[in-house]
Amino acid sequence: MARVTFREDRCKGCELCKLVCPQKIIISADYVNSLGFRPATVKEQEKCTGCTLCALICPDIVIEVEKEVEVVVGKSINERQ
Ligand code: SF4
Ligand code: SF4
Repeated sequence: MARVTFREDRCKGCELCKLVCPQKIIISADYVNSLGFRPATVKEQEKCTGCTLCALICPDIVIEVEKEVEVVVGKSINERQ
């Protein structure tokens, strides 16, 4: 499960993140931020794979991607014997 968040107050609406998202889940909001731009935001958050492409391409460090890591706890092969 991944979660993507945007610091909308810093977004200048360049839409680079929209272009690179393989899931096509980034959209422009229907309002303007304090800079006068329509900030990027995400729809259908559950479809985010956590690929981080959007965060990497953003020139203004607007996007943060969090990804849940599955931790598997078990015994090593030597301990099983
Ligand atoms: S992390 Fe990947 S899938 Fe998720 S919104 Fe960004 S580009 Fe799209
Ligand atoms: S790449 Fe960054 S600045 Fe450009 S629209 Fe996306 S979030 Fe906003």
